[in-house]
Amino acid sequence: MELFNLGIHEIRAMLDRKEITSKDVTDSVFGRIDAVEERIRAYVTVTKDEAVRMAAAADGATGSDTAAPLSGIPVAIKDNMCTKGILTTCSSRILGNFVPPYESTVTSKLTDQHYVLTGKTNLDEFAMGSSTENSAFQTTRNPWDTERIPGGSSGGSAAAVAAGECIAALGSDTGGSIRQPAALCGVVGLKPTYGRVSRYGLVAFASSLDQIGPITKNVRDAAMLLNVISGNDPKDSTSAPVAVPDFTAVLGQDIRGMKIGIPKEYFIEGMDAEVDASVREAIRKLESLGATAHEVSLPHSGYAVATYYVLATSEASSNLARYDGVKYGFRVEGKDLLDMYMQTRSQGFGPEVKRRIMLGTYALSSGYYDAYYKKAQQVRTLIKNDFEAAFKEVDLIVTPTTPTPAFKMGEKTDDPLQMYLADIFTISVNLAGVPGISIPCGFTSQNLPVGLQIIGRHFDEETVLKASYAYEQSTEWHMRRPAL
Ligand code: GLN
Repeated sequence: MELFNLGIHEIRAMLDRKEITSKDVTDSVFGRIDAVEERIRAYVTVTKDEAVRMAAAADGATGSDTAAPLSGIPVAIKDNMCTKGILTTCSSRILGNFVPPYESTVTSKLTDQHYVLTGKTNLDEFAMGSSTENSAFQTTRNPWDTERIPGGSSGGSAAAVAAGECIAALGSDTGGSIRQPAALCGVVGLKPTYGRVSRYGLVAFASSLDQIGPITKNVRDAAMLLNVISGNDPKDSTSAPVAVPDFTAVLGQDIRGMKIGIPKEYFIEGMDAEVDASVREAIRKLESLGATAHEVSLPHSGYAVATYYVLATSEASSNLARYDGVKYGFRVEGKDLLDMYMQTRSQGFGPEVKRRIMLGTYALSSGYYDAYYKKAQQVRTLIKNDFEAAFKEVDLIVTPTTPTPAFKMGEKTDDPLQMYLADIFTISVNLAGVPGISIPCGFTSQNLPVGLQIIGRHFDEETVLKASYAYEQSTEWHMRRPAL
């Protein structure tokens, strides 16, 4: 296999054996970018000059630096994480010229290890969407079928990983934005527990839900990347002071006796028959590895999408108030201050972002607050309690990641509700704050990837990774690469 098609741990082993240099793998990745990026459009900004410099630094590193797991590895970063001196747009016109004066915690941790930044990946504007079609700049294509969307909002990161335009990537997940595109692009995407990873330098969308996580070619790589980015950070008060284990230590342990919950509310009418069949087959595979399956109930699942769209839009309307043309970003001059605000925000934000700001402002306004925002917070607690009750019975919960495989570009753009339903199986996980992963579990007859979602208890990414790895190692789905 070409270097660009390999994962972190395979490249790491070759680097450690001195069979290749970081320059070799970086050249391979940029050769791939040159060959396919025109068709995939995963990147808003490709940082070749920085990458060449960073690869040279990794190759020249001595002592303990050379042993760092991510040293010399080309990684793509979603364009909503601040990279000092490098354009960070959130795929929005309003940040179209924003060059951050500071570095996010996750990218600083990677920089400390001498990683190689390949570029900043495309997303739905401010991470609001499920297809990257809400990007102000471009729609990313699904590497398995370029007429289809890669999912979103981290569609650029997932497509870049699947197409070999990087070795691994970071995404962010507020309601499914790591897991859903990972599922649709046939790669691994892990949303850690809320609080596991610092969000300092992540442009805020909905602060009580946002979490950064890895998008990788296999489960071991996800564990390796999670090791690097996890941990309490004094710069993010929502990052939790809990110990970070070595997430790779559990890989390979057997899963005999593990109890797996199958929530009856997640196998619904309207679900694609091939997705349904692949997921059921995956559950049987887990059983053949020694796990036992149990039906569980998450009775408030039906309220998750509505609850999320009240809370996420409310938080977004507050977070996005800062984009007013005064301190940074895009500005349109007006006849007075108010006119400048109005022109800047009208021209700077796209239609989906405006829809969310209006919905959120309405839900928070006096007279409606109790009926919408407060009610949604109460339902959120019920959803969280559902998970807590289920996790008294089982160790993990297994569901499809998405109800359908990747859809065609334009298929849902006129119908926001249909688009919102793309996250019907991932949203509850953010509302409850628990960790969830999507791993490849099959392909449809049209050769489109299907994802299996595995959900764990708070701060128990280890059990999630252990089961994911056991499943992955007994199947070959993760070995397939799209023909580009
Ligand atoms: N698709 C969902 C939304 O549009 C989730 C996005 C995300 O996780 N950032 O809000």
